[in-house]
Amino acid sequence: MSMEVIQTIDGLWRAKHHLCREFATKNQKRPYVGLVPTMGNLHHGHLSLVRRMVDECDVSVGSIFVNPAQFAPGEDFSEYPRTPEADLMQCEDAGVDIVFMPESDALYTQDHSTEVIVRKLTERYCGAERPGHFAGVTLVVAKLLNIVHPDIAYFGQKDYQQFRVIERMVRDLDFPLDLAMCPTVREPDGLAMSSRNAYLAEDERKAAATIYSGLQELADAFATGQDGAEALKEVARTELAEAVQLEYLEIANAWSLDPKESAASGDVVLIAAKVGGIRLIDNIVLAAGDENAH
Ligand code: AMP
Repeated sequence: MSMEVIQTIDGLWRAKHHLCREFATKNQKRPYVGLVPTMGNLHHGHLSLVRRMVDECDVSVGSIFVNPAQFAPGEDFSEYPRTPEADLMQCEDAGVDIVFMPESDALYTQDHSTEVIVRKLTERYCGAERPGHFAGVTLVVAKLLNIVHPDIAYFGQKDYQQFRVIERMVRDLDFPLDLAMCPTVREPDGLAMSSRNAYLAEDERKAAATIYSGLQELADAFATGQDGAEALKEVARTELAEAVQLEYLEIANAWSLDPKESAASGDVVLIAAKVGGIRLIDNIVLAAGDENAH
């Protein structure tokens, strides 16, 4: 069956209702519905989420929406890469049932006046560097969850803080769904795939790879018994290329994201840096000894 591309909320409800009824009639059970929210310009990272959804769900919905609310003032909203045709082809190839691709005014009415704010978890790291960013993320994700009503929504580990923030919103507001965190998909040299990587010049692209090699060095040092956070962070800093301007590097509790002085297995290392003006983020979860750290 061919994929449907829907631009309005009403249209999405109708298309989803129709597919769900068809599935229920045929299979005599309620379908399991999945959602992968994206801002488009799809790469293998996004597609890993999409493929997992298609694999696990009876009805799969992808959304493509460059959400103005999550770009802080002066950020790259208007230049954010938009490649709708290629995105739709990739979704269709992956077996997605519905792509929800609303225009901005289909999601936000002019007198829109509701905020969705998760406190504390959003105050550090990307939240501190990008004022208003997480409020924009939680607002659009809350709206998408209410529009699509999925049983499960898939997000990438790449945006680790974002995952924890969405998870807290879902818990605090009793959204009835499961969340899945999917592993970060990387380029062969380790750089986490990101739509913003395309902005990097060749030398910057090389320098950017040291963000992940720095994280790996840190994780290796931890695995061999070092646990002082300062010393561990220094291991990563030493690895970073000169062109990498560190924004933050922190070893944190995986759930509360509170910084740690002494690292433990399961803690997450969060990093953000600018390379040639392009802001990149990454993270790694620490594992002791011969547990797999990466
Ligand atoms: P975005 O389009 O940047 O909003 O990303 C949409 C979803 O894809 C988010 O849940 C991201 O965490 C996830 N994602 C982006 N890049 C990657 C990657 N390299 N590996 C895994 N997931 C990713």
